[in-house]
Amino acid sequence: MTMSTDALAASRSPLTTVSNPSRTRLSGATLDAALDDLAALLDGEVVLPSDPDWDAARAAWQLGVDQRPVAVVIARTENDVARTLRLAARMDVRVAPQGTGHGAAALGDLSAAILLRTSALSYVAVDPIGRTATVGAGATWGSVIEAAARHGLAGLSGSSATVGVVGYLLGGGVGWLGRLHGLGAGSIVSARVALPGGAVVVASASEHADLWWALRGGGGAGVVTEVTIRLVDVARLTAGSLWWPRERAGEVLKAWARLLPHLPREITTTARVLRLPDAPELPAAIRGGSFTLVQAAIVGSDELADRLLAPLRELAPVIDDVSPVTPDALGRLAMDPAEPSAGSAEGVVLSSLDDAAIDAWLAALDSEACAGVVAADLRQLGGALSAGTLDDAALTGIDGVAAAVAVAPATPAATLAQASAMVEAALEALEPWTGALQYANFVERPVEQRTLVGAAVDRLDTVRLTYDPDGTVLRRHGAGR
Ligand SMILES: Cc1cc2nc3c(=O)[nH]c(=O)nc-3n(C[C@H](O)[C@H](O)[C@H](O)COP(=O)(O)OP(=O)(O)OC[C@H]3O[C@@H](n4cnc5c(N)ncnc54)[C@H](O)[C@@H]3O)c2cc1C
Repeated sequence: MTMSTDALAASRSPLTTVSNPSRTRLSGATLDAALDDLAALLDGEVVLPSDPDWDAARAAWQLGVDQRPVAVVIARTENDVARTLRLAARMDVRVAPQGTGHGAAALGDLSAAILLRTSALSYVAVDPIGRTATVGAGATWGSVIEAAARHGLAGLSGSSATVGVVGYLLGGGVGWLGRLHGLGAGSIVSARVALPGGAVVVASASEHADLWWALRGGGGAGVVTEVTIRLVDVARLTAGSLWWPRERAGEVLKAWARLLPHLPREITTTARVLRLPDAPELPAAIRGGSFTLVQAAIVGSDELADRLLAPLRELAPVIDDVSPVTPDALGRLAMDPAEPSAGSAEGVVLSSLDDAAIDAWLAALDSEACAGVVAADLRQLGGALSAGTLDDAALTGIDGVAAAVAVAPATPAATLAQASAMVEAALEALEPWTGALQYANFVERPVEQRTLVGAAVDRLDTVRLTYDPDGTVLRRHGAGR
C-alpha cells in the first residue's frame, strides 16, 4: 500500500461519524495508521486514492456511478472481510460490501465508507447429490450456472450471468425459473456472515434464524462471505424468443397480456420492445433493427412449449428460436450486456395490466422523452413469485402481475441523468397500474425500506439492531441503520 496523507485526508473530508462514544473518532492520522495496519494483516489489498490502481479498484460495473470511498479493500479471504469490519467498528467508519457493482446506483454516498470488494471470493462448489451450491460472496451467476449445468441442475438466477449471486439473492431474485420455483432468496439454505467487530456467524433455519430470515430478500445485516443455495433439477427445459417487427408491438403485447392469466407456473415470459445496436457481432437479420419480442423459458418439453405458445405463434413471428436448451442458455436468453457499461435501468411492479396500460407504455416509448430507451420489458410475475408464497423470508414474494423495466444507456449523446429521465418517463406512463410495493432489485435510487418490504421493515430493523447496532455496514437503498 502506498498512500499520500493529503490525498487520503481530502477523500475523507466530508466524513460524518455515527454516535457510539466508545469508538475512536475518525481523524486523518488515526485512519491512516489503522489502514496501514490493516494492509499488513490482509491476504488481499488496501487501495487508496493515491495508488495507481485507485480508479480500477473503485469502479463499479455500472460505469455511470463515480464511487469515491475512503479506501477500497480487496478481500481475498473471509478473514479479510472480518478484519475490515473489526477496523470499521473501532474507527467509526462504515463498510460498503460490493461484488460486481451492478447495484452501485442505489448505494448512495461512500465518502464516509470503505468499499469492500468481494469479487475475488469467487469460488463455486456444487454438491450434485445434495443439490446445493456453496459460493463465495463475489461469485457471479455465470459461474454457478456453468458449474450446476454440468449436473443438469440450475440455480434460481436472473436474466444476466454477470450479476452477483449474493447481491441478487439479498434483493429477492426474480428469474426465468421463478414462477415455478419462487424467488432466488428462498433458495438460501445458509450463509456465513461477518459482523461488525469481526465475528463470523452461520445463518440458517436452525442457527441465527432471524438473520437468515433477513437475508432472504430483506438485504440482511453484516457482510455475507459465503452462501449455500438450493439448486433445482431442470432435466427438460425449453427456451427462446419469438420476434416481430417493432410496428406490431401493440397487437403482440396485448395478446401476450391476455394470455398471462392462463399460463401455468412452468412457463415464465417477458414481452419486450427492443432496439438493437448496429453492431457487427449481431446477425445481419437483426442488426440495428427495432423489434417486439416474447421470450419464454418453459420447464418441460418442447411439446408443452408448443401448446403454451400457440396463441402467440398465430401472430406469425418473423423469427422463432424457441427450442430445447440446457440450463446455461438461460443466462444468455435476455441478451444482457456482457461488459460494464453506463446507463439507467429501473423497474416498477404492476398490480394489473390491460390494453390501456399497453397503449400508455407504447405511446411513452414512442415519445421524444423516451428516445434513448433501448429495451423496455414487461416481465411476467405470479405463480411461485407471488406475495405470501415464501415462508421464513423478509420478502415472501412480489405483489404484482408483471414488472416493467426500462433501460437507457448513457452515451455521448445522453448523460446518465438524461438516461435516467428517459427511463423515468417510460415508467411514469404506467403509474395508474403501478403497485404500492416495489421490488428492490429493479430500483436504482435510494428509497424507503417500507416501500420494498412492507410490514417486514419493523422486524428487519430489529435484526439490524441485533447484528449491527451502529449501522457499520452500508447497503443499497440507504438500508443501513
Ligand atoms: C443486466 C442486469 C440484469 C439484471 N437482471 C435481474 C433479474 O433478472 N432479476 C433480478 O431480480 N434482478 C436483476 N438485476 C438486478 C440485480 O439483481 C441487482 O442489481 C443486484 O443487487 C446485483 O447484485 P450484485 O452483487 O451484482 O451487485 P452489487 O452492486 O455488487 O451488490 C448490490 C448490493 O447487494 C448488497 N451486497 C452485495 N454483496 C454483499 C455481501 N457480500 N454482503 C452483504 N451485502 C452485499 C449490497 O447492499 C450491495 O450494494 C439485474 C441487473 C442488471 C445490471
